[in-house]
Amino acid sequence: MVKVTINEELCKGCGMCADVCTTEVLEKQSDFKPTKVIKEENCIECLSCLEICPAYAIEHEDLTPTRRFHVESKVIEMTKKIV
Ligand code: SF4
Ligand code: SF4
Repeated sequence: MVKVTINEELCKGCGMCADVCTTEVLEKQSDFKPTKVIKEENCIECLSCLEICPAYAIEHEDLTPTRRFHVESKVIEMTKKIV
């Protein structure tokens, strides 16, 4: 299973990662405290949080290559319909 880690020394507490996560893995904290990982088991490995984080504070370990391929395939199909 994927492991999601937020480096609390790098995290600015902006909460953008929690906002972009559709499966509620992450929880924004008040007063710009570091965001918490609360439901790691819900992670679908979309990596949206990783891409949006301005502080490079999020890490994912043990990603499932096939799942990532599935997500990217879906994104490619959706993109083809738009352009
Ligand atoms: S996007 Fe990055 S800096 Fe902002 S709360 Fe999430 S981990 Fe922290
Ligand atoms: S990789 Fe996707 S599902 Fe997992 S924590 Fe980040 S935004 Fe949420």
